[in-house]
Amino acid sequence: MSKKYANWINENQQELIEISDKIWEFAEVGFEEYKSSTLLAETLEKAEFFVEKNVAGIPTAFYASYGNNKPVIAILGEYDALPGLSQISEPIKRPLKEGASGHGCGHNLLGTGALGAVLAVKEAILSGDANGTIRYYGCPAEEKFNSKGYMINAGAFKDVDITLSWHPAFMNAINDVSLLAINSVKFRFLGRTAHAAFDPQNGRSALDAVELMNVGVNYLREHIIPDARIHYVITNGGEAPNVVPDKAEVYYFIRAPERSSVEELYKRVIKIAEGAALMTETKMVINFLGGMYNPLHNDVIGNVLLSKMRLVGAPRFNKEDREFAEKLKKTLPPGSMEAFSRFIPPNLRDMAKQILEQPLNRMILPGIGKGKIVPGSSDVSDVSRVTPLGEIATTCQIMGSPGHSWQNVCTSGMSIGHKGMLTAAKILALSAIEFMNNPEIINKAKREFEEKIKDNPYISPFPEGFKPPFINQ
Ligand SMILES: [Zn+2]
Repeated sequence: MSKKYANWINENQQELIEISDKIWEFAEVGFEEYKSSTLLAETLEKAEFFVEKNVAGIPTAFYASYGNNKPVIAILGEYDALPGLSQISEPIKRPLKEGASGHGCGHNLLGTGALGAVLAVKEAILSGDANGTIRYYGCPAEEKFNSKGYMINAGAFKDVDITLSWHPAFMNAINDVSLLAINSVKFRFLGRTAHAAFDPQNGRSALDAVELMNVGVNYLREHIIPDARIHYVITNGGEAPNVVPDKAEVYYFIRAPERSSVEELYKRVIKIAEGAALMTETKMVINFLGGMYNPLHNDVIGNVLLSKMRLVGAPRFNKEDREFAEKLKKTLPPGSMEAFSRFIPPNLRDMAKQILEQPLNRMILPGIGKGKIVPGSSDVSDVSRVTPLGEIATTCQIMGSPGHSWQNVCTSGMSIGHKGMLTAAKILALSAIEFMNNPEIINKAKREFEEKIKDNPYISPFPEGFKPPFINQ
């Protein structure tokens, strides 16, 4: 039976590729993924999954279950695109539709690979080769908001035993790097308008407050932990120089390796905002947009995923794929390899040299990121705090391709991305079946999870009474 359900994915690959390509073309941004989520949910409904829509009140969030007993194995899917990244699937920079969005993070592949995995596991349950419930989580707006955190709060993950996830990448590996926890917040200042030349003494500038807040935060930087990141943009700075702005707004991301550090930094940033309001006699209003955790990786799950990855093997790219990759590689910005090299541990340097030379990575790497932090954030982290979670990456992009780039949109819509996606679907399916047939591994994964979480229970990053900025509200 070892590879039987990987073969099922091979036999049904055409349908999966078509779905992935449709989502690639829809290229809908977060909270607008109506066509993409409907296509995935309808495919699952047709396959006799029980589909729960509008999860947590989010119109494009859903989950779909097959089976009706324990264990419950969850596989995460995403399908949101990024604005302004429309691109044809050719190795030259050209939009498919001028100004439109594109799948620069490959979430068309992510959502469809997860779909392929749950459909294959369903076949195993149906044939009596696996026992339990397989569940697909349709998670919207990963690029914008912690939808998964909101789905957690709505109880959507409460009966899940194990969660599996994957992400398109330029290598095949267990994803065990850490990410940064984050708060994303807008600080709005309200002052009093006046003619800036005629009666400035009557004005109280909201823009002054924004600027003083930023100055204060820039001084704060000297006294924060080195791995923290604080960045901002001014989203409203007034309309005209001769009018004292009565409204101004600045948008902040506050990131740190641990959630607790984000909470602490956030309090300090609020104090600075309050100080800026006091100095300028303006009123400060906080508009909290979202928060996320840093991830918690589960080694027991990671080992199962790695064994299945070795069984399935890396994606098999052909001559056309390699030629395509060579052409695309020439378009990469200088220094794009360095970002990756930083993560290679010293004992893997020789192997890394080979990896970096291949435009399409064909090796299977063990986890290479333990103890390292990729300075980004993802809401998969929140799920890893409420259920034991393991994640893999497969080669869907060319080596060194920058995140959220047109090059990634390009390979997400052609055979390089398809092959990586089908590989991921197989690894996830075989792992889910393994867990279903081996309750002892689930117990082991759960023991590891409990041990890691016991001093840091999950507390929602959203403040009490928080109303998320969903599209219909
Ligand atoms: Zn992504």
